[in-house]
Amino acid sequence: MADFTPQPSCADPLEAALMPMQVAQDHIQQLVSPLTASETCSLREALGRVLHQDIISPHNVPAHRNSAMDGYAIASSDLNLGNDSLALQQIGIAFAGKPHQGQVSPGQCIRIMTGAVVPAECDTIIMQEHVAVDGDTITIHGKQRAGQHIRQAGEDLAIGDTALKAGRKLIPADLGLIASLGIADVNVTRKLKVAFFSTGDELRSIGDTLEAGQIYDSNRYTLYGMLTRLDVELLDLGVIPDQRDALRGALKQAATEADVIITTGGVSVGDADYVKEMLAELGQVAFWKIAMKPGRPLAFGKIDQTLFFGLPGNPVSVMVTFYQFVLPALQQLTGEAITAPHTFQVRCHNHIRKRPGRYEFQRGILFTDDNGELGVKTTGQQGSGILHSMSIANCFILIDETCDGIAEGEWVKVQPFSGLV
Ligand code: AMP
Ligand code: MG
Repeated sequence: MADFTPQPSCADPLEAALMPMQVAQDHIQQLVSPLTASETCSLREALGRVLHQDIISPHNVPAHRNSAMDGYAIASSDLNLGNDSLALQQIGIAFAGKPHQGQVSPGQCIRIMTGAVVPAECDTIIMQEHVAVDGDTITIHGKQRAGQHIRQAGEDLAIGDTALKAGRKLIPADLGLIASLGIADVNVTRKLKVAFFSTGDELRSIGDTLEAGQIYDSNRYTLYGMLTRLDVELLDLGVIPDQRDALRGALKQAATEADVIITTGGVSVGDADYVKEMLAELGQVAFWKIAMKPGRPLAFGKIDQTLFFGLPGNPVSVMVTFYQFVLPALQQLTGEAITAPHTFQVRCHNHIRKRPGRYEFQRGILFTDDNGELGVKTTGQQGSGILHSMSIANCFILIDETCDGIAEGEWVKVQPFSGLV
């Protein structure tokens, strides 16, 4: 599996066999089958979960014609009398949840509150601000329009409408929408279980003392953050040293217990090769070099039925490859309807150096300039180990493979972080 045709690069002979990002994304998409298992949960618990079945409206929302204003309900036929100001007799009052009982005859009206049912004989609401009241007589001033200020039955959702489609990841408005239908429980795709660990002999966990050349493992915390926002079940297997037995044990446990395994480190050329060796022994995993920066090396495949992503070790590469490759796969697994992330063009306020050949995800800061226009600047140094660039950035500046640099003042494409997990 996962063989690919190298794409010639116009720029750098050393990078001539890089795989375009889209090709890698397509390979991954082909190997992922959506989960079929679902569970029922209460409406509140369903926030952020993916609907497994359509939600069909069991009745009209709103159920009855009702007033959009505090005022008076009248029949528009009374408006046609051609009088400048129209006098009507008020014969009753309707509150939200407490309809007026009885008929409204020509020349009559009722006082009505927002949300109250409009009597069958009435079809128009007069705002109370346009009315003078004298005992039970009201006089209407100003120009009125027949049919105004009425919410029709079913104008939000009609009975039998698909209120929300399977694949929808539920947002706060959806919870309200489902509640408005009177539905208490919803069927959602079961939670994914994701196992992850870091590899590298130089890594230490928080709390350990660092010796020369050692660093703290930050990738597991970044991954924890990104995965937690996705509301998956986590299996954190810690830091696994570059040793055959430790790696074999961790991979086997992860493959038994999880739907997806994510590791960081050990997939680039020059690493102690135990990760590759173990993956060859336990599963079918391909090692790719992708035409992107950061994030060139990536391992992807399966161990038994579990998807495996071997992300690079560099902290920024971990995040970029997670968003580009892992996130879409997790969404596909849960059956989530995926929409392409929003991007837009803004002026770049600084010069960006770039060589053609790889698609770049520069970290950027979107800001409003002195003229009130949106602009972007880079976060500074763009090394794939500089994690604070992700911390201070609020967007990616997306730069095509073929681009050979951006001049100050040029338009660039950006993808805001809001909306990412
Ligand atoms: P590798 O892909 O294993 O060659 O790692 C590339 C770079 O990322 C090296 O400088 C590693 O020290 C660093 N690195 C790898 N794993 C982690 C981690 N879990 N946390 C922080 N840095 C890491
Ligand atoms: Mg390593």
